[in-house]
Amino acid sequence: MGKPVIYITRKIPDDILQPYQDSFNFRMWAGVDVPVPRDVLLREAASADGILCLLTEKVNREVFAAANNLKIVANMAVGYDNIDVDAAREHNVVVTNTPDVLTETTADLTFALLMAAARRIVEAEKYISDDRWKHWSPYLLAGSDVHGKKIGIVGMGRIGEAVARRAKGFGMTILYHNRSRKNQTEQELGVFYTEFEELLNKADYVVSLVPMTDETKKMFDRKAFQKMKSTAIFINVSRGGVVDEGALHDALTENEIRGAGLDVFENEPIAADHPLLQMQNVVCLPHIGSASIETRTKMLKLCLDNLAAVFDGDDPITPVT
Ligand code: NAP
Repeated sequence: MGKPVIYITRKIPDDILQPYQDSFNFRMWAGVDVPVPRDVLLREAASADGILCLLTEKVNREVFAAANNLKIVANMAVGYDNIDVDAAREHNVVVTNTPDVLTETTADLTFALLMAAARRIVEAEKYISDDRWKHWSPYLLAGSDVHGKKIGIVGMGRIGEAVARRAKGFGMTILYHNRSRKNQTEQELGVFYTEFEELLNKADYVVSLVPMTDETKKMFDRKAFQKMKSTAIFINVSRGGVVDEGALHDALTENEIRGAGLDVFENEPIAADHPLLQMQNVVCLPHIGSASIETRTKMLKLCLDNLAAVFDGDDPITPVT
């Protein structure tokens, strides 16, 4: 039997693939920054034993139906809302993701975004680069304090806990909301469980770290923003789909909340003329939560190790279900 054919949906560095070359026959989309066209993905899936994909690929029923030999889809992300897991199960295809290896890096970015939105870092940098800094004045670009404030983490999972540890260092009071309480985390980190509405009511910083599911879809809607403090800053590093972006825009323009920091959007890449991009009190990033060189390399290796485990007849290391 020949080596399993693995289709990789984006160009990844040769040195990462090198240790796996003896085990697999790699085929790869040559684009570095451009996603694989749908027709190419479907054609390649037809002869693939495994797929290593990114969150830009919708791996749905159409893909599974086209892929008769497929045994595993290794998703290079911890979130897997781009994959139809039910369809995968029906086709006996294993789905894996990349938890843990990106937790600390994503928490770093979450805190950086929170700090940037709170202290108006992007506006301030633009103020200088636009040559508008002529005088110092008491309230010039004055933002919100972070230390000693209340942070409300919605989705106290791996990344939520890592953000809580950072918040502790800033002397923040930490509220969290999950579907289930985490007694051990409460004891270890001194965090307080609160119902969703109470968290919205009390937090100075509301941070979304929930996965995108049917339940979380647009959970940050008009009603949710109306419950927040008028001084609150909303941070989203989970998935754009958990937010009603129109409602967020309304809340910001009507001063129902003070600002936002967004790493993820309903439609990515966000259109250049999107109203949220026109607002000074919103810091927007192009979905770079886990984007450090070290972590992206670990994510790719974990995908490849998952592929290796499955084709060696072992259990996948990080299956999604
Ligand atoms: P995780 O460990 O699974 O944590 C998710 C948490 O959300 C869990 O504690 C879960 O607790 C809670 N949750 C799930 N459904 C909920 C609901 N309906 N209401 C309230 N809480 C709910 O996942 P993670 O590794 O921390 O990652 C979290 C998410 O971050 C990922 O799914 C991904 O979408 C996103 N992410 C984004 C980036 C980026 O680049 N921006 C990078 C990495 C991850 P219960 O089950 O008890 O509710």
